[in-house]
Amino acid sequence: MDRSKQDENKVGYDSEPQDEAPDGAAATGLRARKLLSEAQEREVRELRSSRYETRRTTVEALEEVLFEPIPVLDHGFVRVVDYMGDDAAITQAARVSYGRGTKKLREDSGLIRYLLRHRHTTPFEMCEIKFHIKLPIFVARQWIRHRTANVNEYSARYSVLDREFYIPAPEHLAAQSASNRQGRGDVLEGEEAAEVLETLKQGAARAYGEYERMLNQDEEGNPQDPERQGLARELARISLPINVYTQWYWKVDLHNLMHFLSLRADPHAQYEIRAYAEVMVDILKRWVPITHQAFEDYVAGATGLSAPAMALIKRMLAGETVEQETSGLSAREWRELMEQLDRQ
Ligand SMILES: Cc1cc2nc3c(=O)[nH]c(=O)nc-3n(C[C@H](O)[C@H](O)[C@H](O)COP(=O)(O)OP(=O)(O)OC[C@H]3O[C@@H](n4cnc5c(N)ncnc54)[C@H](O)[C@@H]3O)c2cc1C
Repeated sequence: MDRSKQDENKVGYDSEPQDEAPDGAAATGLRARKLLSEAQEREVRELRSSRYETRRTTVEALEEVLFEPIPVLDHGFVRVVDYMGDDAAITQAARVSYGRGTKKLREDSGLIRYLLRHRHTTPFEMCEIKFHIKLPIFVARQWIRHRTANVNEYSARYSVLDREFYIPAPEHLAAQSASNRQGRGDVLEGEEAAEVLETLKQGAARAYGEYERMLNQDEEGNPQDPERQGLARELARISLPINVYTQWYWKVDLHNLMHFLSLRADPHAQYEIRAYAEVMVDILKRWVPITHQAFEDYVAGATGLSAPAMALIKRMLAGETVEQETSGLSAREWRELMEQLDRQ
């Protein structure tokens, strides 16, 4: 990013109205916040105006958003930079077909749903997608645990990090949950909320000021003090907080993408990573609509039952009134099952 274009507002939650998206975005209904510099927007426009003749499959709904940054959180985005395959590529692989592999849509849909329902997953590995993602470092730490993807991250040894920090929107500034040690409770309000927000903003602004001072660089990249050498970028970065934004290219096959989404678009995932996953579920829908529906039906909206839980449900279906004490489940298993069945 052209650092001379950075402004002070980048430290803090940006609640300003969003700018119009770059060319072509109107067709998608997406509105990009001012996420890219003028130069980056120009590059994206150039890419979006290019057309290649190809014998390979393309997917019109995904082409509509190709290269375009879709905003996530206050300064982050997800953009698709490349993809291979479509729903038909899955059936093509499953049938080891010479042609498109496409029979009637109904048959293709039935096969895809059968494959996912029975966890015959390798045909889904035949499709791939490559994203460019801008995300806070604390989100990247959770994300990188998903090892079955290819990653190339922006180097803060080579380049200076942007003055961009994630500051939660007021409605996401929640208290610690009393019942879930890994979760959030009610939203903070009043003075406490204001104080927390101010602490986060000031901490980020101070840390970035010190980073620039240690680098001995001003916003334009010029030396602050010609008498000083400036600390190496690989060292100056170590005092930045984990809400600073990083970027990476992330390439994954469809099988592992769905595994990632099943864990990170789930309500148990932390809101900040879930915000990215939810955008990617929409991308999944554009790219492979039949697979997306199967994913919703057999993965995202489905639930697994243990053998004791199945035995218990059979007893309940037979008309028996069962309490936790007589269920054969621990209190926690019982609570989780009742939540799954919406019976709390
Ligand atoms: C809500 C939530 C809370 C979490 N909390 C914590 C936490 O507190 N602490 C923490 O450390 N992590 C935590 N994690 C991370 C979690 O333990 C996994 O590391 C992460 O979800 C990646 O899942 P994965 O290994 O299945 O994915 P991938 O790395 O993409 O792997 C996909 C699958 O490939 C196989 N695989 C990959 N690598 C190996 C390997 N080396 N050996 C054997 N099989 C392999 C496994 O079958 C695996 O399921 C949490 C995740 C979630 C979603």
